[in-house]
Amino acid sequence: MDTKAGELVHKLAGEHGLALDEYEYLVDHLDEEVRAHLAALAREAREPIYGHDVFVRGLIEFSSYCKNDCLYCGIRASNTGCERYRLTPEQILSCADMGYELGFRTFVLQSGEDRHFTDELLCSIVRALKEAHPDCAVTLSVGERSYESYARLREAGADRYLLRHETANPEHYARLHPAGMSWEHRMQCLRDLRELGYAVGAGFMVGSPFQTPADLARDLAFIQEFQPEMCGIGPFVPHHATPFADEPAGTLEQTLGLLSIIRLIKPGILLPATTALGTIDPRGRELGMEAGANVVMPNLSPGDVRSKYLLYDNKTSTGDEAAESLRSLKRHLARAGYNVVTDRGDPRIS
Ligand code: SF4
Repeated sequence: MDTKAGELVHKLAGEHGLALDEYEYLVDHLDEEVRAHLAALAREAREPIYGHDVFVRGLIEFSSYCKNDCLYCGIRASNTGCERYRLTPEQILSCADMGYELGFRTFVLQSGEDRHFTDELLCSIVRALKEAHPDCAVTLSVGERSYESYARLREAGADRYLLRHETANPEHYARLHPAGMSWEHRMQCLRDLRELGYAVGAGFMVGSPFQTPADLARDLAFIQEFQPEMCGIGPFVPHHATPFADEPAGTLEQTLGLLSIIRLIKPGILLPATTALGTIDPRGRELGMEAGANVVMPNLSPGDVRSKYLLYDNKTSTGDEAAESLRSLKRHLARAGYNVVTDRGDPRIS
């Protein structure tokens, strides 16, 4: 193993942080041996906090309408070939009821930035969900909104919020997003969410166009500094109807190495093995766990709309009923030595 990379791995495991240039060196030297070493230490760091438990969150993708035009995204506004859908509040709540029956105690309500879902409407959905299932946590993943909007949703009962920062480098951000979107605003949203008492999830794509090891180093330094409660990372996967259609996908290997690094930065972090990881490799989720992840988010959306929420090509969507997909997830993870926990409980987030 590269001696300096080996030393940095040990330093990271001991101190839970590195300098920017050290992260860059490590990202640049993620060969098989370094990754195996990182993964072993990541599992060791996870063990005393979470044991072999893997948390499941029920994902409800409730609208594929979006006013934004992120260059990498299959449901961007300018993709006119994309078949759009929007679930009614009743449909959203019935997905949650069905998930509750299966044992899910955390629901992630995710959508594009859809103007149809005003504060009033979204708050009423969150309130109804919390009234029906007071023992559940509600996570929102509905993009950038105003401080006041986040405050209303929090007041209505939302507990957690996922908003990927996408890249910690403003110039890189500007190459992935249209002119109307700003890195500064994205970061402000994350700070607002934190101030309002949400458990906050940040995150980024691995291997996105123009990304360099220096950019990834900045992402890791940002995670170290911001200390999000959750961090969603997954490989960039191109979508055929976007300007990045011909760009290469991010790799499984680099994503796994970065998952381990993030586990070592914050041993108690909630770290999903994302759908994108499962998309680029059939064993992606299990390998994610081996690298230090501890969350999976099975899809509870109705089967007929799942194939329409296509952020990227070939997105894994079994079409199985939620009950069957939970059973098969449990089977696969049990084989890999993990215990699927459906309740909301996790030691770091109430
Ligand atoms: S990444 Fe999110 S905000 Fe951007 S176009 Fe896609 S759904 Fe909309």
